[in-house]
Amino acid sequence: MTKNRGKIAIAGAGLCGTMMAIRLAEYGYQIDLYERRTDLRKTDISAGRSINLALSDRGLKALDMIGLRDQVSAEIIPMHGRMIHPSDGENAMYSYSGRNGEYINSVSRGGLNMTLLDEAEKSDNINLYFEANVKTVDINSTSLTVSIDGHESTKEYDVIFGSDGAGSAVRRTLQKQSSRLRFDFQQKWLSTGYKELHIPPTADGGWKIEKHALHIWPRKGHMMIALPNLDGSFTLTMFTPFEGPVGMDRLDTDELITEFMEENFADATVHIPDLLEQFRTNPTASLGTIKCYPWKYNRTVLLGDSAHAIVPFYGQGMNCALEDCVVLDQLIQDHDHDWDKILPAYQEQRKVDADAIADLAEDNFYEMRDATADPVFNVKRQIELRLEAELDYYSKYSLVTFRADVPYHIAMKQGRLQNKVLYNIAKAVDNPTEVALGPILKEVNEYVAERM
Ligand SMILES: Cc1cc2nc3c(=O)[nH]c(=O)nc-3n(C[C@H](O)[C@H](O)[C@H](O)COP(=O)(O)OP(=O)(O)OC[C@H]3O[C@@H](n4cnc5c(N)ncnc54)[C@H](O)[C@@H]3O)c2cc1C
Repeated sequence: MTKNRGKIAIAGAGLCGTMMAIRLAEYGYQIDLYERRTDLRKTDISAGRSINLALSDRGLKALDMIGLRDQVSAEIIPMHGRMIHPSDGENAMYSYSGRNGEYINSVSRGGLNMTLLDEAEKSDNINLYFEANVKTVDINSTSLTVSIDGHESTKEYDVIFGSDGAGSAVRRTLQKQSSRLRFDFQQKWLSTGYKELHIPPTADGGWKIEKHALHIWPRKGHMMIALPNLDGSFTLTMFTPFEGPVGMDRLDTDELITEFMEENFADATVHIPDLLEQFRTNPTASLGTIKCYPWKYNRTVLLGDSAHAIVPFYGQGMNCALEDCVVLDQLIQDHDHDWDKILPAYQEQRKVDADAIADLAEDNFYEMRDATADPVFNVKRQIELRLEAELDYYSKYSLVTFRADVPYHIAMKQGRLQNKVLYNIAKAVDNPTEVALGPILKEVNEYVAERM
């Protein structure tokens, strides 16, 4: 720990705010980290704990930066592929990559947040405040007003980070002055909502369905997914429109709920003994994308979901939020702690990537929901997996998920071009296991090179 480089306030001790606090404290900044909720580690959050997220290379790289990768890796479950549960026919596993060692991981959101908070608490440079509700910021004086125990106080800082999630109070401050600040804000809701359900472990603590997979029940128009938890349970997330023939609004009697679940997700429903109770107790939540700009005014800056909340279908929201910290860290080094250079460079570099992953995440909703049940899509995936295993090729999914060195906007552009060619090729292929790969890769590479 070196000199006192200045005072920084961070609103929100979620995943990305806590990570940023840890990194800044290592440089010698004095951090006040304000969290609206009670301390996760001191409350019974058994329900919250079972919410899990897919952690991949961008998030792992960020954990590496603060020296927590090994510790977190001991508490994650590798998911090697998508296990597709079709409405008829056999279940099938599709690897995420043709290369060994490329997979995603199921991590407990609460567990990861607690690990980060434990690490933050070890630092003398971080003051952690719980039940501390950030009310507003003043971008001219770089001061933040927070309410703790019913007392409001205002303090000035050198820099303020708003990492207070999709409903950010820091961002709201900017929205309130949007015309004066020329602050652009766009929020787009999906007509599909989600409900979490839970498959308990076997009597001896094992997993009732394949442990090392992200399970998908694609049903054209709606779907369900499941990620494994360390205790043998699975967290299921059912995505279905709010209204319409398979709408949440129709599921209002025990008979309709049971019929819907058995008809659509029979091999999961059989493992949920208290289905009706879970269905009634667990809320139906909305999903949306938030885009805004600028992310910084003077020395106040947005980070993570507060700057760019995205729908969860690429499993990248947290990974992207943690990658924000890596990008900022690099800029701190490049600009030798000159915040008047770091913050403009951060928003300029990062906005294009946040927009790209937001768009990719929306596309992937349709891919997971519909295309995973499409035979041409699966032929294309099989060719891609062979290309990855046998030649030098990265699919769009792999570029986004396993190549933390490739910015999201490049991954999106390259991946979309590759897909266009491969999808056309796949339409004419009967046997993807035997088709010659050399000419395919040449065609793909030439098409991409001409357009990148
Ligand atoms: C259903 C679902 C599934 C998802 N699955 C994945 C996945 O598989 N992989 C993935 O990478 N991402 C996933 N995500 C996205 C991921 O959860 C978010 O992108 C990530 O949590 C963002 O981190 P954050 O730190 O920016 O915000 P948050 O995690 O939301 O943290 C914000 C923190 O700020 C606090 N706060 C809020 N307001 C205030 C205030 N006024 N004052 C003080 N504190 C405040 C909150 O209590 C919270 O602790 C999923 C999201 C959803 C909804």
